[in-house]
Amino acid sequence: MTTIKASCPSCGDVELTPPQVRLVVCSVADWSYYAFRCETCASEVRKPADSEVVRLLRAGGVRAEPWEVPAEALEERRGPAIDYDDLLDFAIWLGRSDLLAAAASGAQQRYRLV
Ligand SMILES: [Zn+2]
Repeated sequence: MTTIKASCPSCGDVELTPPQVRLVVCSVADWSYYAFRCETCASEVRKPADSEVVRLLRAGGVRAEPWEVPAEALEERRGPAIDYDDLLDFAIWLGRSDLLAAAASGAQQRYRLV
């Protein structure tokens, strides 16, 4: 079986077999990573995997797990961040409103119960 040499930040070089390595290949290339549990210190080690690392690990027999990032996670955000008061207002509103789906669809003007 193929031996994969990696490095633990605490223990240094370690040798792994393909089943000991988790390779996650993300639709956003910069988010791809590989991970393993160091047998010496039991730490979970996670490192970025660029296209060359992905190629080498796959060639060594590591099974790649696809990871599709939802498009909404990549949307550009504008405006102020939601703060605690916004969340509290929303929780209070939920307590008084029965037609959440109608409000979320923009029909809140007709069905407003607050
Ligand atoms: Zn270690």
